[in-house]
Formats: sequence, structure tokens, C-alpha cells
Amino acid sequence: MNLMFSDHAEWRCAQRNLSYADVEFVCRYGKQRRNAGVIFCQMWDKYMPRYVPANNRLSRLAGTTVVLCRCGQFVITVYRNGEAFHEDIKKSKYCRHQVTSCPYCRQVQAA
Ligand SMILES: [Zn+2]
Repeated sequence: MNLMFSDHAEWRCAQRNLSYADVEFVCRYGKQRRNAGVIFCQMWDKYMPRYVPANNRLSRLAGTTVVLCRCGQFVITVYRNGEAFHEDIKKSKYCRHQVTSCPYCRQVQAA
């Protein structure tokens, strides 16, 4: 996997103290669902690999959703379950961190 992050996703990760490896982990083990032209990767407790002990820092990733471009290589945003994707995208319009277009497939995301 070779993920690229939008400015918005980078900002969200910094806010949430998530590393590249954390995001990659969610993409790899979370449940993937295609919807509205993007891929949602949702991490739940039940998808945690057995090797991750409950006190491991990775276990705190349960409840995290990564939104990827349809090509699966561009991270549009990252949020915690309970937060709404559309709210997050809306917020991105009001901050200087724009949701940018994917450099891989050139698909322009909600900007
Ligand atoms: Zn793409």
C-alpha cells in the first residue's frame, strides 16, 4: 500500500494523533464499503487482528473510519465513528485545508 493524504486528511490525523501506519492499519483490517464514489474503511473491535493486545496503541483505532478515493490510494479524510462524513467534508470548506483531487486517478473530490 502506498497511500497519499489530502491536506485535509493530514490535518485530521494531526488533530487525532494518527500516524501513517495507523491509517494504513485501518485500511488493511477495517471493513471496506464503497459508497458515493469513495471507499469507507471502518475499524471495529471485531476486525482487530488477534495479535493486537487490548492495551496496544492499535486497539484505540477501533471506531476510526478512513475515507479513500475510489482508486483506494488517496486518503480523503479520517474521522471517528459518531462524527458524520458529510459534516467533516462541510467543515473542510471552512478551513484552509481543502479536500484536494486525487493525484492517482485525478478524481476531484468534494473541494
Ligand atoms: Zn483516486
